[in-house]
Amino acid sequence: MKTRVKEPVLSWGFDDADESEDWEMLCDELSGLISFNEDKTWYGTVSNFGWRNQDGEARFNAENGQELLRHILPETDCCFKIYIEGTEDDTVINIQNYHHDSPVGNEWYEVLPAKACIYCGDILKKEEQHKDKEGNILCEYHKDETMAEA
Ligand SMILES: [Zn+2]
Repeated sequence: MKTRVKEPVLSWGFDDADESEDWEMLCDELSGLISFNEDKTWYGTVSNFGWRNQDGEARFNAENGQELLRHILPETDCCFKIYIEGTEDDTVINIQNYHHDSPVGNEWYEVLPAKACIYCGDILKKEEQHKDKEGNILCEYHKDETMAEA
């Protein structure tokens, strides 16, 4: 059964011949692939996994690949495949995770680049972002605030 047509850009723990066997190298490669997001803020959702009582979504800062994986993956031995599609703000990072509670790999994470409100710092996914005239990112609340001032 194939769930994705595309091949993963990175994978870990499957003993493939061409797979990186060095965790730091894998993290470095991922760092390069996600470096387009200068804000370093991310919005993630998970399917088929209770994400630390956060209802399947998380908003977090990750400067590099290692931090991103640390935020996403459960603290257990994992095998995973990383798929990256799209470019820049439209990039979608999908991670299929396998571990003892998820042996068939039906645990999927989706991570999207996000931006923070310049006033309150809340991390906003794309649909939640508003922009002022200067192109600054504002949340729903501060959007109204700045309009009132104008
Ligand atoms: Zn705000």
